[in-house]
Amino acid sequence: MDLTYTKKQQAFRLEVRQWLADNLPDQKLASYDTREGFEQHRAWEGKLFDARLSMVMWPEELGGRGCDLIEWLIFEEEYYAVDAPMRVNQNGQLLLGSTLIEYGTDEQKKQFLPPMAASQHMWAQAWSEPNAGSDMAAITSKAIRDGDHYVINGQKTWSTRASFADWCFGLFRSDPTSSRHHGLSYLMVPLDAEGVTIRPIKALNGKDAFAEIFFDNVKVPVKNRVGDEGVGWRVAMATAGFERGLLLRSPARFQQTARKLVELYKANQQTADNDPSIRNQVSEYWSAAEAYALSAYNTVGRLNQGDKIGAESSINKIFWSELDLKMHETAMRILGSRAELLDNDAEEMRWLDGFLFAQAGPIYAGSNEIQRNIIAERMLGLPRA
Ligand SMILES: Cc1cc2nc3c(=O)[nH]c(=O)nc-3n(C[C@H](O)[C@H](O)[C@H](O)COP(=O)(O)OP(=O)(O)OC[C@H]3O[C@@H](n4cnc5c(N)ncnc54)[C@H](O)[C@@H]3O)c2cc1C
Repeated sequence: MDLTYTKKQQAFRLEVRQWLADNLPDQKLASYDTREGFEQHRAWEGKLFDARLSMVMWPEELGGRGCDLIEWLIFEEEYYAVDAPMRVNQNGQLLLGSTLIEYGTDEQKKQFLPPMAASQHMWAQAWSEPNAGSDMAAITSKAIRDGDHYVINGQKTWSTRASFADWCFGLFRSDPTSSRHHGLSYLMVPLDAEGVTIRPIKALNGKDAFAEIFFDNVKVPVKNRVGDEGVGWRVAMATAGFERGLLLRSPARFQQTARKLVELYKANQQTADNDPSIRNQVSEYWSAAEAYALSAYNTVGRLNQGDKIGAESSINKIFWSELDLKMHETAMRILGSRAELLDNDAEEMRWLDGFLFAQAGPIYAGSNEIQRNIIAERMLGLPRA
């Protein structure tokens, strides 16, 4: 693997670094799980878009700048290195956006991608239902065709930031006689449509991080369907691949957490060294984050030559979610009882926020137990349990 950057890649890195130095907000934005913070993040995303740094990999005519995957990794490295605001429209931009680029019609790409890149339209993912989480093929929400519309009825749950979003994308049963993976269609639904009710669900920190979405005879044009009618499962699996694979969680995110963990350890070394296992963990997790980055460069090299990521995305998902959890647990051990008492503005408070969020890593984007089943059955060819 040749790890030398080209002149063009180096120039891009410097451009991103300079832009961030000139434009990074002076104050930390409020949490995007609040209405106020959500709108602050929307404004920041608009600024990124104006600089054509919102979706660097998308084609220029759709609001991007036509970068390749290596340039995307570079962008992410620079972005996380300065603790720039978390990206609030990832469900749209990285999951639906990537899916539309592969499966959308030209008309859909033109209609949906530029406002998504600019975060004029914020998106929520509406897949899970009360009895269809890990077992997503158990979806019962229906979308019944009526001329040039579908009429949607049903309920979705655990939809991240749907309390504030403008649109959602989800899977619905368009053939009412079908079961399991068959007869599902992938639809894009405006959340202000008549018949949509959104009920927020509070997360551990008391914020409206999730919502339930209820659909009561909601009319959605057929042209909002991604892929053919009845084959939504296949399209959704492509979206899930983006979610578990590289795009949603770039290595830069974990490298930055690892760097901060080293800083935290150094700042508290005297007490931390009372327990020698802490020092070992810090160095182990720093190395793991670097190894993840090298592995990502390796994967990107293969993808650039036309390879597909496939079931391998499940390995990535388990790796990043467990590493994130372990790094935050170690930070909590270093901080000791102070970890739970820090006031809201303290830099260290971020560790508590991160720790709480890291608990969810092994669950969202498909739980790690399910990822292990996928690895066992599809990669190792082991018999189904
Ligand atoms: C932070 C966060 C954000 C989320 N955001 C969204 C979102 O935006 N949109 C959305 O649609 N959903 C979202 N979800 C929901 C998420 O996708 C589901 O919670 C997840 O798929 C698990 O489903 P479940 O909660 O129904 O658990 P269950 O399916 O009830 O699983 C419970 C436990 O049993 C295990 N289990 C279940 N079946 C098996 C099996 N066959 N073999 C081995 N173990 C098994 C699971 O791994 C899990 O540990 C989010 C969840 C979290 C935590």
